[in-house]
Amino acid sequence: AKSSGKNNFKFFTEKMREEINERLHMENHLRQALLREEFELHYQPQIEIASGRMIGMEALVRWNHPEWGMVYPDKFIRVAEDTNLIIPLGEWVLKEACRQISQWSQQGLDQVCISVNISARQLKSRHLFSLIDELIATYNIKPGMLELEITESAAMDDPEQTIPRMKKLRNKGVALAIDDFGTGYSSLSYLKLLPLTRLKIDRSFVKDIETDPNDAAICAATIALARILGLGLVAEGVETEAQLEYLRAQGCDSAQGYYFSRPLPEKDIMAFFACHQQE
Ligand code: C2E
Ligand code: CA
Ligand code: CA
Ligand code: CA
Repeated sequence: AKSSGKNNFKFFTEKMREEINERLHMENHLRQALLREEFELHYQPQIEIASGRMIGMEALVRWNHPEWGMVYPDKFIRVAEDTNLIIPLGEWVLKEACRQISQWSQQGLDQVCISVNISARQLKSRHLFSLIDELIATYNIKPGMLELEITESAAMDDPEQTIPRMKKLRNKGVALAIDDFGTGYSSLSYLKLLPLTRLKIDRSFVKDIETDPNDAAICAATIALARILGLGLVAEGVETEAQLEYLRAQGCDSAQGYYFSRPLPEKDIMAFFACHQQE
C-alpha cells in the first residue's frame, strides 16, 4: 500500500507517545519497586585462570516484580539513569553489597572481593563519597573487599572531573576497575592518570576471539597493556573452553562468564565457592 507522508508522521507521533507513556510507566513502577524493596542482587563469580579459584564476584541487580517475575537490567537501568532514579537504586545496590560482604566475611568468604557497577550519574553525585565512608564504617568491612566498576565511557567523559573523583574513591582503599574496556575512547595518556586496580575486557571482544583476528588482537593488546600498567585484568563473557584457552595463552589473569557460572542468587554462592577454593 502506498503510504503518504502524513500517515507516516501520524504513525511516528503515536509511536513516540507510546514510548513516552511506557517510560513514564516504567519510572512510576521503579519508584514503587524501590519503596517495596523488590530489587535483589545476583553475584557472578570471577575465576583466577591459573588456579581455577574464585577470587571475586560481580554484583548484578535484578528486579523481582510480583507479577512480571524477574526483570533484567537491560529493561530498567536506562530509564533509571534518564530519570535520576539510578541515584537511590545505586545507593541500595551499594548498601546491599556491603551488607553481603560483611555477612560473607563472617562466614569465611573474606578473600573474595565484590564488584559493584557505578553509573556515570552516580560518579558525578557528591553524595557518593560520604555514602561509601558510611557503608564501610557501618558494615565494618575492609575497603579492599569492595571494587567499583566504572565504564570506560563514564570515566572518560570529562576526565578533568572524573579523575579527581576516582582518586578520592581510590584513596578510601576501595578497588577501582574500568568496565567494558575497549568500547570507549580512552586515550592512553588519561588511562595512565587513572588510579585503577583492574581492567575488564568487554564481552564483545571475547565473543569472537577464536574467529575474528581483530578481536583476538584487541584482547592480546589489552592483556599486554594491563601488564605494562601493573593492573589486574578480567575478561568478561567467557562462554567456551576455547575462549578461555586463548585468554590463558595470552596471559590473562582472570575470567568471568557463563563457562564458569551465570550470576547466582545469594544462597548459591557458598556452595560455588566451596567447589572453587585452593586445590
Ligand atoms: P555489565 O556490567 O557489562 O555486566 C555483565 C553482563 O553480562 C551481565 O548482564 C551478565 O549477566 C552478562 N554476562 C556475564 N557473563 C556472560 C556470558 O558469558 N555471556 C553472556 N551473553 N552474557 C554474560 P546483566 O546482569 O543483564 O547486566 C547488564 C548490564 O546492566 C550490566 O552490564 C551493567 O551495565 C548494568 N547493571 C547491572 N547491574 C547494575 C547495577 O547494580 N548498577 C548499574 N549502574 N548498572 C548495572
Ligand atoms: Ca560491570
Ligand atoms: Ca562489563
Ligand atoms: Ca559489557
